[in-house]
Amino acid sequence: MTSGETHTLQQREAAALMRTYKRQQVVFARGEGSWLYDEQGRAYLDCLGGLAVISVGHANPAVAEAVSTQMRQLTHVSNLFYTEPQVELAERLCALSGLDRVFFANCGATANEAAIKLARRRAQATRGAEAYRVISLERSFHGRTLATLAATGQPDKQRVFAPLPQGFVQVPGADLEAMDKAIGPHTAAVLLETIQGEGGIVPFSAEYLQGVRELCSKAGALMIVDDVQAGVGRTGSWFSWQSLGFLPDIATTAKALANGLPVGACLARAEVAAAFEAGDHATTFGGGPVVCRAALAVIDQIERRDLLRNCKERSEQLIQALTGLARVAFVRGRGLLIAAQLTEPCAAEVTARALQHGLVINNVRPDAIRFAPPLTISPDEITEAIARLSQALA
Ligand SMILES: *Cc1c(COP(=O)(O)O)cnc(C)c1O
Repeated sequence: MTSGETHTLQQREAAALMRTYKRQQVVFARGEGSWLYDEQGRAYLDCLGGLAVISVGHANPAVAEAVSTQMRQLTHVSNLFYTEPQVELAERLCALSGLDRVFFANCGATANEAAIKLARRRAQATRGAEAYRVISLERSFHGRTLATLAATGQPDKQRVFAPLPQGFVQVPGADLEAMDKAIGPHTAAVLLETIQGEGGIVPFSAEYLQGVRELCSKAGALMIVDDVQAGVGRTGSWFSWQSLGFLPDIATTAKALANGLPVGACLARAEVAAAFEAGDHATTFGGGPVVCRAALAVIDQIERRDLLRNCKERSEQLIQALTGLARVAFVRGRGLLIAAQLTEPCAAEVTARALQHGLVINNVRPDAIRFAPPLTISPDEITEAIARLSQALA
């Protein structure tokens, strides 16, 4: 595709699609491993991974094989019937997470919807009709459906869609006193990310998260971890809480689970999951055989290629290299979910310039850029990413 044709595609896009996205000026045609290629065949090093989604690399052959084999065998039957891949994936996720039961959704927001409904269902059954409130954190992100938007602590995103569902309240993050004051007999659950992703890659300390865990247990409220962005190996453990010394009652994950196919999962302790009865919640597509085969292939790759270890090692390498760069004030995050705080609010400009130098990143805040590369990224590719970023920062 020539630049003239790219221009035409932009015009066609504007004429055919709703204006919900501000897109970077590139048309991607294919990918391989950590690399993306535009229509002219120009290579870009992908340090964003489709927003923390591409866990085992673009066009991963094992995932492609698993998906195409399943496509030829059975694509969909609905949840009125049993299919083996769904059960197999649920078993794997329970074993990896330490939680006991799974509900499959279709994305992060619908996994969170399931979590919120489960928490309310359980609170209503065990603690009375008044115990429906969900406490989340300021600057959090939990999705774009109305309920998950109500839980999302970003008033700018909420205001234009008022009125939102009731029973959601936000408190400042990293503030146990504020959480203590907010939790009470009417609290069904606390919903939080261990690292706020869309909020700017803001990690919370183990002490704070363990403190929230204790407050929840004391009040009889459930603790829900939204691991949609941080789960499935992204922080160097299968789930982000596993390196932080606590276990939530409910957890959700989605982004990295099927390497680009849409999937979401809501996991819970058995006693909590028991609140759902047949007919309480459902989805047409969730847990279909094709996405479940993809997710099983992803889990298999993470294990066989020791990608949790690679994640931790590349994380150290990336943090160290970023820390030395001019115009980088400091670096934050865990595993391969990292933000570089810039000395000026020029993240959008840096992101656009990086793209010109063949590096894909994202401006997660006006003054911070985000890295969420595939967990398969190599030491040489990290070095190359830093070289390209240095040019963009120059
Ligand atoms: C991306 C994200 C969501 C929403 O996921 P979708 O698949 O876009 O619905 C929810 N929570 C967190 C923490 C996310 O990063």
